[in-house]
Amino acid sequence: MINGQKVWTSFAHVADYMMLLARTDPSVPKHKGITYFLLDMKLPGVTVKPLRQITGEAEFNEVFFDNVRVHESQVLGGVNNGWAVGLTTLMYERLTLGFGLQMRLRIALEGLLDLAKGMEKSGRVVTKDPVMRQKLAQLWIDTECLKYTGARAITKLLRGEMPGPEASTGKMAWVDTHQRLQEIAMEIEGPYSQLVKGSDWAVEGGVWPHSFLRSRANSIEGGTTEIQKNIIAERLLGLPKD
Ligand SMILES: Cc1cc2nc3c(=O)[nH]c(=O)nc-3n(C[C@H](O)[C@H](O)[C@H](O)COP(=O)(O)OP(=O)(O)OC[C@H]3O[C@@H](n4cnc5c(N)ncnc54)[C@H](O)[C@@H]3O)c2cc1C
Repeated sequence: MINGQKVWTSFAHVADYMMLLARTDPSVPKHKGITYFLLDMKLPGVTVKPLRQITGEAEFNEVFFDNVRVHESQVLGGVNNGWAVGLTTLMYERLTLGFGLQMRLRIALEGLLDLAKGMEKSGRVVTKDPVMRQKLAQLWIDTECLKYTGARAITKLLRGEMPGPEASTGKMAWVDTHQRLQEIAMEIEGPYSQLVKGSDWAVEGGVWPHSFLRSRANSIEGGTTEIQKNIIAERLLGLPKD
């Protein structure tokens, strides 16, 4: 029987199943005694409440569990072994975030270049501004680096090896590049980014302000940047935990 609540669950309002880590043995230390469930979201007692974000959308949710009876077939990796399964899930999430999202980064960069080519500031096209050219070139370099780093990580997976803590570097580098790209878009659009056609900003606001606001969550979702730095410090650089 599962009881409790979980905030920030992406797409729970449309999902058929969720990955749920629940404490199943309170008598053992914190990382032990946790079980990983592949939980059927249609089970009686599961309630999903959408949460509105800064973009105006409700992409993630709060999920409530009220005396939810789960069949043992929905346990993944054995009872009380959920922490190990959860860590594997997170490493894969970071790896795919780093690799899959670098493709979206490339698409966003192409959009940004189109924006820069079409905007004028102080009587000259933005792409002729030497400082802006440096910023755009740096974005391109960082996007290329992410592509090759991601390709190396995917090759490792195809060889049957596990993603390691280095997945944290890809995630961090992606966050830094993507948030910088969105900030540069705001800089290029300037006051135009604030123009709204109608009263509903989320629906009628511009594309760039929307993606800028959404990008603020990048350094939180999938593990915060501070946590990625801790992983890199401890597990890649071998620095002491404190
Ligand atoms: C868009 C979005 C979608 C999400 N989707 C999901 C989802 O589908 N499923 C899910 O389970 N979660 C989801 N989350 C939640 C997300 O994983 C957490 O918000 C994130 O891991 C941070 O945890 P927290 O909110 O508990 O912050 P906290 O752990 O409370 O951290 C608060 C602050 O303290 C810092 N901090 C905490 N511990 C340390 C430390 N040891 N050293 C240094 N700094 C520290 C953090 O970096 C952060 O700045 C989502 C979040 C967002 C923004």
